[in-house]
Amino acid sequence: MFNLKAVENRHLGLDYRFKFKCHKGISCFTQCCSNIDIMLTPYDILRLKKRLGMTSYEFLDKYAVIKEDEKSSHPYAYLKMDSTPERRCPFVVVPDGCTLYPDRPVSCRYYPVGQGTLKKKDDQDNIVHEEFYFFVKEPHCKGFLEPDLWTIASWKDDQEITLYDGMNREWKQLLMRRNLPNTPALNPKKKAQFLMASYDLDTFKKYVFESKFLQVFDVPDAELEELKNSEEALMKLGFKYLKFILGLEKTLQVRDSALKEKKKE
Ligand code: SF4
Ligand code: SF4
Repeated sequence: MFNLKAVENRHLGLDYRFKFKCHKGISCFTQCCSNIDIMLTPYDILRLKKRLGMTSYEFLDKYAVIKEDEKSSHPYAYLKMDSTPERRCPFVVVPDGCTLYPDRPVSCRYYPVGQGTLKKKDDQDNIVHEEFYFFVKEPHCKGFLEPDLWTIASWKDDQEITLYDGMNREWKQLLMRRNLPNTPALNPKKKAQFLMASYDLDTFKKYVFESKFLQVFDVPDAELEELKNSEEALMKLGFKYLKFILGLEKTLQVRDSALKEKKKE
């Protein structure tokens, strides 16, 4: 995460205008790729592991640290910085920059803009999620002295952020879940399921196709074909699964046979 003191102008809309340019010739180039905590999203990991030719498990083992969120007890993955005093990102090369730029995480794409989500009720009393933006202006970043003019909407287009936000949207809604007061934190099994279904797609695929998952949940045949061939579809099934097991939404259909079996227990 960036320095919170540098966060400005909370709750900006897509039409907010700002001047900015980040390029190789700028004096601060690569400075923002050190001493920072970058929270990874499921779609970040899907793209990064593909680019690096690794399984999701290998990626998590080599490049991520898992930290437990105090308020929800969800385990979240962060990029593992190197052990130098600068805590440099493992993918930055000085002076060339990011070695996996086309697949860089969404936080790196957004910078110097930040994004948040508010949970509210609409006129019909339905829960809606409202996205907003804020600005991060850190003293070391000279990009603000450049003349290129953006709106947050044009910045998002330029940085391919809309695709990432679309992929991660349902997962980001999960991040708003909190442990209720006076109730225990998530148990270790649920934490492990959160970790697997959020980030470890290769293990989740085995879980779906090689465990009792399909005997418990009724997944239509057409969807099954897509799940075998599309990691994006599998990732989205993971989000549905998490909403279901965390009791947030009835996103999956339990088979009658599984319900009968459960009653017998
Ligand atoms: S500090 Fe700002 S201008 Fe400099 S490399 Fe990072 S984002 Fe670009
Ligand atoms: S992933 Fe790339 S852009 Fe992001 S911090 Fe690392 S080197 Fe910088």
